[in-house]
Amino acid sequence: MKGEGLKIVISGPSGSGKGTIVQELLKQGDYKLSISATTRKQRTGEIEGKHYFFKSKQEFDSMIEKDEMLEYAKFCNNYYGTPKEYVDNTIKLGHDIILEIEVQGALQVKKKYNEAVFIFIMTPTFKELKNRLVSRNTESMDIINNRLTRACEELSLFKEYDYIVINDNLEDAIREINTIVAAEKLKSGRYENFIKNVLANQEA
Ligand code: 5GP
Repeated sequence: MKGEGLKIVISGPSGSGKGTIVQELLKQGDYKLSISATTRKQRTGEIEGKHYFFKSKQEFDSMIEKDEMLEYAKFCNNYYGTPKEYVDNTIKLGHDIILEIEVQGALQVKKKYNEAVFIFIMTPTFKELKNRLVSRNTESMDIINNRLTRACEELSLFKEYDYIVINDNLEDAIREINTIVAAEKLKSGRYENFIKNVLANQEA
């Protein structure tokens, strides 16, 4: 019984380890990833079209004007958005798709697609968040502090999410997310067509 795929929204503060979790989910499972557009500067090692589509502000605005974004938000002075077409096509083909996005964008997705699954990732302590951000060594202290302020704001919105996964151990986090997805797929609401078919073909 393969219907539309699930939209799986994964958020969490910078340093929560959500990027690593998503990469592991892609390796191990049958998930697709939505590649976002951003006006943020490309970091060393990041690849255009794999990590992001890097855009000028003008190009980003033009995508919004043409209604090509499923959602978008400003995060720490840069814009980030989800190109709509790939997400729509992927779920129509029955594939589950992960949107790794911050909370403002997640709230926009929630308004449009109530059936999407919303998962929030957090570290066991705030200190660990800070340590991970500092040790990753990709941002200046100013940017790190900005992201930590933002982390507090994001944490205050945790109740908007269906599930919280505490990233104490990568393997456990992956197992928990796979369990969430498996359970979501068994929700009765997804079986309307199946039941209709069963009733319409009672001799089959
Ligand atoms: P980073 O600059 O560390 O790659 O991402 C900063 C934040 O932007 C992260 O919380 C990430 O999840 C979020 N983000 C990435 N892509 C999108 C997107 O398409 N939309 C929204 N709303 N947030 C995004």
